[in-house]
Amino acid sequence: MARQPSFHVLIAGGGVAALEAALALRALAEDLVSVELVAPEPEFWYRPLAVAEPFGLGEVRHFELADLTAAAGATFTPGALTAVDVDKRLAHTSVGSSLSYDVLLVASGAAPTPAVAGALTFRGPADTEKVRKLLDELARGEVRRIAFAVPWGAVWSLPIYELAFMTANYVAERELESVELALVTPEDEPLQLFGRAGSDAVRELLDERGIELHPGASAVEFVGGELRLVPDGRIAAERVVALPRLRGSRIDGLPQTVDGFLPVGPDGLVHGLVDVFAAGDITSFPVKQGGIATQQADAAAETIAAAAGADLTPEPFRPVLRGLLLTGRRPRYLRHEIAGGAGDVSAASPEPLWWPPAKIVGRYLAPFLGSIAGVDSPVEAPSGAAAVPVKVEIGPDAIERLKPLPLDLARDNQGENAATVGEVMSTDPLLVAPEDTLGEVAEKMRDRDTGSALVADYGRLIGILTSRDLLRAFAGRVHPSEARVREWMTAEPVAVPGSTSVDDAVTVMTEYGIHHLPVVENERPVGMLGLRQATRSARERTGIGLGL
Ligand SMILES: Cc1cc2nc3c(=O)[nH]c(=O)nc-3n(C[C@H](O)[C@H](O)[C@H](O)COP(=O)(O)OP(=O)(O)OC[C@H]3O[C@@H](n4cnc5c(N)ncnc54)[C@H](O)[C@@H]3O)c2cc1C
Repeated sequence: MARQPSFHVLIAGGGVAALEAALALRALAEDLVSVELVAPEPEFWYRPLAVAEPFGLGEVRHFELADLTAAAGATFTPGALTAVDVDKRLAHTSVGSSLSYDVLLVASGAAPTPAVAGALTFRGPADTEKVRKLLDELARGEVRRIAFAVPWGAVWSLPIYELAFMTANYVAERELESVELALVTPEDEPLQLFGRAGSDAVRELLDERGIELHPGASAVEFVGGELRLVPDGRIAAERVVALPRLRGSRIDGLPQTVDGFLPVGPDGLVHGLVDVFAAGDITSFPVKQGGIATQQADAAAETIAAAAGADLTPEPFRPVLRGLLLTGRRPRYLRHEIAGGAGDVSAASPEPLWWPPAKIVGRYLAPFLGSIAGVDSPVEAPSGAAAVPVKVEIGPDAIERLKPLPLDLARDNQGENAATVGEVMSTDPLLVAPEDTLGEVAEKMRDRDTGSALVADYGRLIGILTSRDLLRAFAGRVHPSEARVREWMTAEPVAVPGSTSVDDAVTVMTEYGIHHLPVVENERPVGMLGLRQATRSARERTGIGLGL
């Protein structure tokens, strides 16, 4: 990136990552950059206390974005980012404007979508009233069995534990009789992300509050008074409260995963692009959490500030999780560094291990919001706060471990006769390069009479391009000989090894809503399975249709 006389940073988003990045840029690059935020909503929502709101224990705060951006030395433009022309460095918005930039930072968050059919999906402030109603029903004795569920794919499970604990307290305080609470999670241990000490502390709390734990199970559907679990099992419930599954919204001209997330490097650069960064929930980093979002924003801001000429050495993103579990009585502080294979370094204590005890600890955001809201954050850690500092970079292995498996693919319950993907896949998939133009690929797809191409970089599968992507690009009037595969492909595609059973492959395709499933061995593409091909094979074998 060449230094510009006036280096304009456009940040798409008005949430945690966007504000942290704007504040960091102002602090690090001062007058070397101009910063503009573009977001569809005129307000900034501070959501973590949403779980406490129905119980009257906390309140969701919101602030006018125009005021916040002005105070942060940035400008605010209304609109949602819809498309990017990376060659012309232009961002197109939902309100028809085209904004130019030197560097674009996408921090547009993720949208919650219902993951458990029939359940009350708790997305945040929007669902406070529904939870309040449920508590009223509980108090009147109309509801006695509630299950709380973490769906597969939700790595940040803390809010459901908070809801379950606060419901248990609500029940205890009112001395409600015969109430049964259960918690279902695909995690092997409760709040697994926080390590063994965190899990043990939470397990103890669950026992103490009489919440029945169902680990290693994903809730998929609540029907007829039963919550159906995979790999197997059902639990009786009158109501189910579930976390949503998160999805990034589609931004034309940027590579996104099947869930709409942007793959980024440790410096925040979107893979394959030179002037486009991303931070927060919109990235494909599996943990969608405010603290992580601010750390990503800081890493991106440092790289951008250095590119603008600031005298600093950018530090790459190094994730540290911080969480505050609202038990409804005494807050419990948890910390865990995601250490690549460094063993368990977690600690849990009823005393705070972090200070200040903000729910989202952003280096710049926490003190900024504190001053705007007129609350001074204490700066000194209380004495006796024990923490284990571990300086371990998160490596690709650790990220890989955190990535949610689609349902429980690792299970081995298909029987010896189950057909495998390797037996029915096409073994000669069309392979293209990220630098190929869309026009070149369209021609190859026509010649091979195929609707998809696998994108490989140095032999490694990095994306998939389907006829639907081509349609999207051409409908957006991109030029076939200018637009590149790397901008329009689905990045980090869902893929399976050839040993996967066809039944599991069909489940994956159904759950993700995809029709083409790449087959890999050691990250190298070796085949392709089409949905029709897979369902035909499964039907021939079983003679019946397939469900989950
Ligand atoms: C109920 C609940 C409880 C939580 N509790 C905690 C907690 O205790 N601790 C914690 O650390 N985290 C918590 N989180 C997670 C945390 O809120 C998110 O991880 C964090 O807000 C992510 O920051 P972000 O900037 O990526 O996205 P957001 O904060 O969601 O901001 C996204 C912004 O982008 C804007 N936007 C959307 N689409 C576009 C577009 N196309 N173009 C431009 N702008 C766009 C939105 O209007 C919004 O301003 C909780 C989340 C929920 C829902």
